[in-house]
Order: sequence, then structure tokens, then C-alpha cells
Amino acid sequence: MLDTATNRPALPPEIARRRTFAIISHPDAGKTTLTEKFLLYGGAIQMAGQVRAKGEARRTRSDFMQMEKDRGISVSASAMSFDFHEFRFNLVDTPGHSDFSEDTYRTLTAVDAAVMVIDGAKGVESQTQKLFEVCRLRDLPILTFCNKMDRESRDTFDIIDEIQENLAIDVTPASWPIGKGQDFIGCYDILRDRLELMDRADRNKVAESVSIEGLDDPKLAELVPAHLLETFLEELEMAKELLPELDPQSVLEGHMTPIWFGSAINSFGVKELMDGIGKYGPEPQVQRAEPRAIAPEETKVSGFVFKVQANMDPKHRDRVAFVRMASGHFKRGMKLTHVRTKKQMAVSNPVLFLASDRELAEEAWAGDIIGIPNHGQLRIGDTLTEGEALKVTGIPSFAPELLQTCRAGDPMKAKHLEKALMQFAEEGAAKVFKPVISSGFIVGVVGQLQFEVLASRIELEYGLPVRFEPTQFTSARWLTGPKDKVEAFAAANKGHMAHDNDGDLVYLTRLQWDIDRVERDFPELKLSATKEMM
Ligand code: GDP
Repeated sequence: MLDTATNRPALPPEIARRRTFAIISHPDAGKTTLTEKFLLYGGAIQMAGQVRAKGEARRTRSDFMQMEKDRGISVSASAMSFDFHEFRFNLVDTPGHSDFSEDTYRTLTAVDAAVMVIDGAKGVESQTQKLFEVCRLRDLPILTFCNKMDRESRDTFDIIDEIQENLAIDVTPASWPIGKGQDFIGCYDILRDRLELMDRADRNKVAESVSIEGLDDPKLAELVPAHLLETFLEELEMAKELLPELDPQSVLEGHMTPIWFGSAINSFGVKELMDGIGKYGPEPQVQRAEPRAIAPEETKVSGFVFKVQANMDPKHRDRVAFVRMASGHFKRGMKLTHVRTKKQMAVSNPVLFLASDRELAEEAWAGDIIGIPNHGQLRIGDTLTEGEALKVTGIPSFAPELLQTCRAGDPMKAKHLEKALMQFAEEGAAKVFKPVISSGFIVGVVGQLQFEVLASRIELEYGLPVRFEPTQFTSARWLTGPKDKVEAFAAANKGHMAHDNDGDLVYLTRLQWDIDRVERDFPELKLSATKEMM
């Protein structure tokens, strides 16, 4: 049966109820608090605060995590699944700091939508803007939550204007705040004609809601103090006149974002947002792949790796590949084909990430995120299928913007260092280049902070003190072209050549001028700043 809105087959109910999304925000806007409330309402935790508490228990294990805590940033992404009403939510956490944008970018390839959290006093901040641009590249639907309305916030129209202007997206109010700061009493739910009142006393309780028969209902005047009511009614009238009405199709196409106002810490507005994700958020989407796209309703199972996390448990030296299921109904124990190596893989101990713990995933449907423990076979960008040679596309690897040489404090430990660096390279935490003629390794990252994180992880996880030192190079470009031409070029420019962790040739240089020269003098060769993950 065709769905009239999308002109695609209606999905099996188990798939149709899945909502896989990430939260994007500027640090401090309230992403962690909102995540906690999602989990609280999803029944995944009993008390808000557990996400943080769990984070802290984990952090005490290493200085790397200590650093994360000191700087108030979250370095690694994880996935959490929980039910809400008839929906299964898969929330994929994104690292908030800009130095980890590559990881974030890849995380966003694994979701169907994003929730954008903004601080009501600050509006659209730099990191919100950057993350939004990434979502825009993929036309991801965005739902917006304007947080901290219990505090002095900006004018509601100003906030909406700023989003429309800075992000070039239509904004439609799903709710409207009543009162500001100390006077904030709650919101009017425009979509359901309901008044939601905030209870400041109990932060773990759901807000009280009162249904209203339209704006003329006398209950409104009883519940909203007169001095707030007048302004509210004026604003609402203006909003209805000036702002577009909710168009679900436009939301799904990424052209319009509904905005909810609330206060995550007071559990206010969160449920309405969750209802909105269920109702207006997208079902699992078709995945781009070669030689053909993968539709979620296909009965054959497929999925792709978008993140690899090593050493999640230092006692076991394990490595978990995070896999987004692209189609079908996966059952534990299934044998899947690892398309890159054409090898069969029995997936016998996949894990599902629940808020409080990880547990064995007995099954998973298109849209779900599972973790597959492995010994390094699974890499970012890999596709798993039931046999067909499909490759999910669009998971890029960026040329690093900062390069440094990495040396072991003890020169006898070079092999050991190589192993550690290769592991981080596979995890996607850094690019590692082995120069063709000189010894040592050149490590490339997108942000300076990543060097510090790497140095502290190598010391902690491998017992290996290392030094990062400046190199003469500042840019890396992957080199491709006809084999003989590439070889001739590499032989003549040995001092500039290196291999990345996949063995692919990379041209290192200090000058943009050099890159331009190569492009001009060797038209058959291609230097690229991104490489699709193979
Ligand atoms: P993140 O950096 O985006 O994960 O933000 P957090 O969730 O850690 O929140 C940052 C700070 O804002 C914390 O001190 C929170 O307690 C606070 N906060 C979060 N939500 C609200 C809210 O609705 N109102 C107020 N007043 N503070 C909030």
C-alpha cells in the first residue's frame, strides 16, 4: 500500500514507530538536561540526574574523561533507546565541542532528524549554526526546543526571527510562552488548544495541562493572570497572522521547523516536544547507497557503521562499532556479509544501549542503532548486508586541518605507538599518516583539543607517554589518478608522500600554492580534501 503523503510503501508498524534523531545545540543550552528528561519520560531512568551520575562514574576511570568534565564538554557519542507512547525513540548523542565536528558529522548521517535546542536568552549561537548547516546538507528535518524559559528570555518574536534569518528556515510556533522570567507560567499548546502550566516545585513531575475550548474559553482568564493574558492574546494573534501554519510535509522536507518553548530543568514542555517528535518527526528513511539506495521496508537486513569506539571497557580492550540498521528485521545470531572484505560475520552479541546499561539486542529493526563488539574488522563507513554488495555512501572523512608529529617518549616503543595510533585512526578519532621516507607518524586532527585527548588516551589506555610536535606540513590531500601517473608523482615527491591508515597515498604540504601547482601541472591527478570512508 502506498502512503499518500510520501508516495512510498507504508512501512511495517515496527519500523514506522521508530524515530531516530540527534540533539544539536551550543554547549550549555541544555542538551544533557533535556536528554535526562527524555529518558525519564521514556521510563528508561527513574530520576533525572542519572545520565550525569553515570557519566561521572565513567569519568573517574580516566583523566581523558576528567578532561571532558573539566572543560564541560562531551567527547564521545553514544546511542540510547527508549519507548514513548507507541514510539521507539533512538537518541544518538553528538559531541558538543566544535573540535569534534567530524565525529558529529558522521553521527548525523545515522539519524533521520535533529532536535535543535536553543537557550531562550541567547538564541542561535555559533555551534548551533554550524551543526544546523550540517543538517541542512542532508535536508534533515529539525524540531526546535527553546529552553530556559523560566529565566529572563528574549522576546519570542525576536527568537523566531533570528532562527528564520540566520538559518533560513521557516519557523512555526507549536506552543507560545505566557509571561517571561519570574512571570513565566507556562505555554499555550497551539497544536492542541491546551494550556500547559508549569509547576516550579517538583522538577521530576510532568506539567499540569488544562484543555481549553479555544481562546474564548473563560477558563483561560481564570488561570492566566490578567496582566499576562492581554499580552499573550495579542502576541498569539500577531503570531497567527505573521508566522506560517504548521505544514507537516514541509517539516519532513527540512524547510520548516516547529518550535516548542519550555524549561528542561523544570520538565516543562518536554512531553509536548516528545509528542511532536512522534507525530511530526520522520520514520526511518531511505539510505543512499551504491549501486542502489536501501529502503527501510526491504525484508533483507542491512546496516552501516557510523562510529567506532575503542576501549569502552578498559578491562576488555573491546571495540564497539555503532551500526545504524538501514533495512529489515535483524535477529541476534544472524550471519551478515561484511561487504568491504566479503567475509561472513556471525553477529552473536550485539548490544542495545539503554540509558542505564547496555544489554544484548535480541532483535533490531530498520532505524535502530546497535553496537557490535569486534576486534577491529568493522570500520567507519562499512556496510553489512545479507549478501548483496551494497555500500552506504555519504560518510565522509575530512582532510585534517592540523598536523603534528607524534613520538613515543621511549623510542623503543615505536611499534607499540603504531598500534595505538592505528586503533585511534580506525575509531575515527584522528588521521594517522606514515611518511614514505622519514620515521615517526604524522597525526592529523580537526581541532587542537584532539591532540590533548589523544595524548592522554594513549598514555592511559596503552601506558605510553607520547609527545606531539609541530611538523613542517599543514595540509594533507588524498592523491588519486591513473596508477602509473600516481606512482611517478610519488617517486618524484617522496618527501611529501605518506600513507594513511588504510594504505592510501596522501600528499602532505605546507603551502596552498603547492596544491595549486600540482593541480595545474598534473591534470590527471586528483588531490582531494575528503575521502569517502571505504
Ligand atoms: P548542555 O551543555 O547543553 O548539555 O547543557 P546542560 O543540560 O548541562 O545545562 C547547562 C546548564 O543549564 C546547567 O546548569 C543546567 O542545570 C541549566 N539548565 C538546563 N535547563 C534549564 C532550564 O530549563 N532552566 C534553567 N534555568 N536552567 C537550565
